[in-house]
Amino acid sequence: MTSLLERLARPEILALPPVDVAAQANERFSSTAIKLDANENPFPPLVDGSLAANVNRYPEPQPAELRRVMAALYGVAPESLVITRGADDAIEILIRTFCRPGLDAISICTPTFSAYAQYARLQGAEVIETKLDNNFDFEPAMFIDGVRGRPDLKLAFICSPNNPTGNPVAPKDILRLADGLLETIIVLDEAYIEFSELESLAAEAARRPNLVVLRTLSKAYGLAGARVGCAIGTPELIALISRALPPYPLPTLSIQAALATLSASRRPVHRQRIEKIKADRDRLAPLLEGSPIVNSVRNGGGNYLFLEVDEPEALARKMQSLGIRIRFRPNAAPGGVRLTIGTDAENEAALAAFGVDLGTSPARRGEIVRDTKETKIAVAIDLDADAPRRIDTGISFYDHMFDQVAAHGGFALTLACEGDLDIDAHHSLEDCALAFGSALGKALGDRRGIGRFGFSLPMDETEAHVLIDLSGRPYSVFEGDFQATHIGAYPTEMTRHIFRSFADSLGAAIHVRVSGENDHHKTEACFKAFGRALRQAVKRDGDALPSTKGVL
Ligand SMILES: *Cc1c(COP(=O)(O)O)cnc(C)c1O
Repeated sequence: MTSLLERLARPEILALPPVDVAAQANERFSSTAIKLDANENPFPPLVDGSLAANVNRYPEPQPAELRRVMAALYGVAPESLVITRGADDAIEILIRTFCRPGLDAISICTPTFSAYAQYARLQGAEVIETKLDNNFDFEPAMFIDGVRGRPDLKLAFICSPNNPTGNPVAPKDILRLADGLLETIIVLDEAYIEFSELESLAAEAARRPNLVVLRTLSKAYGLAGARVGCAIGTPELIALISRALPPYPLPTLSIQAALATLSASRRPVHRQRIEKIKADRDRLAPLLEGSPIVNSVRNGGGNYLFLEVDEPEALARKMQSLGIRIRFRPNAAPGGVRLTIGTDAENEAALAAFGVDLGTSPARRGEIVRDTKETKIAVAIDLDADAPRRIDTGISFYDHMFDQVAAHGGFALTLACEGDLDIDAHHSLEDCALAFGSALGKALGDRRGIGRFGFSLPMDETEAHVLIDLSGRPYSVFEGDFQATHIGAYPTEMTRHIFRSFADSLGAAIHVRVSGENDHHKTEACFKAFGRALRQAVKRDGDALPSTKGVL
């Protein structure tokens, strides 16, 4: 009795020696070993700075650290995942592994992503096309009937949420398909799943011999230009399809970019961005329904909307003249248009082209990533939202202080830091303050109508006074003393320094005066009063800054 993979794979692939995806040589030697084995040039490339690091060396065939990080991200073991040059590359190696030219077939449900059929045709495999229903929904029973009696059907591609329609396919329907087509590998493309409410089937694919899940960093993690994606399946299937990869598929620069963007301090900002894109998508959908040229709007689970418009040629000319690129999908539906959700300003421009007014001013957002040898920090501030507030500096009392600033300031704050706390809290405290000030400065933009503000705050026996001048030069005054050296892991002597860092990075004069008995009260009162003063400063005010819904 041969295994499913032995029955399905091309004989040429089965005859290839297994690839060593763990890159044995890398495990036997340390990264500082003298490398005279690969005919590399010993000198770094003549490009500036961090881009040059290690680029004269071949990358690891399957970079072990990135593989661990992506496997953890998707909830599977590293052996169940192979990193590819985007999910596109995973589609290609699956087809090359299983489809013999002129003999085998794949199936797709149209309208869908075009790469499945394209790679199949390139390989000389037949493309069996079944249609989604009138509502672009997937019907598993109909699909199984449509391909019954086709022993040459090696791969069935399902895209969920589907590109370009956005329709999700319920996981239970995917599993029904896998149960009903035991001699076919179901390839579930989850390129957009982060923007949907769907549960991923990645963990299921790691156990089930006839299910593969595709994921990508291109969409949710903003890494389309780096080309990093993966296939997830049983370790046997992953080892098999890895044979169809070139020897060093992933550029070093892409590996570095992927590791950097997936580091722990970046995750909260990614999460916040995805939430924003979803919220904007849900806000734009009903507005576009009111457009005079739009017949229908499909709001599925992707970072895009699928529209049907009356006169696509006229719209194409208009968009060309405005310099706005949207994707026309006439094969999906006559007048079919896929509109990606962009930044506030981009969405506003697109809506205006559709004859719709967004009705709000662009949000004032500021994002900063800041990496040094001591800390890695990512901050996102949205002055026109009061949630989320997610703060993880690594020092819980400091988290509480930033939470006070944002809560009393009335703005959304996401801040995460990976710092060298094993040495001392100093770097994390200072660098978080600097990154916060820079992000706030970015969110404030041109600072029109912003000036001098102050707030005084009693807290039991304590009194704190904070004055800020946001349009002024950096200047810091701090009057106050603390008796205790620490509050939890937070050193009280740093408060003075933190406000100085706020002033420097924000470009503001900040004067703090605090008196009282209790050091916890005194510290907290400084941050609260700072938040209250900011609340006045960031408020959009009449003509000076356009008013907006949701602002204080
Ligand atoms: C964008 C996209 C991909 C490919 O993504 P990369 O990882 O950039 O290759 C795969 N499937 C679908 C449905 C897509 O829309």
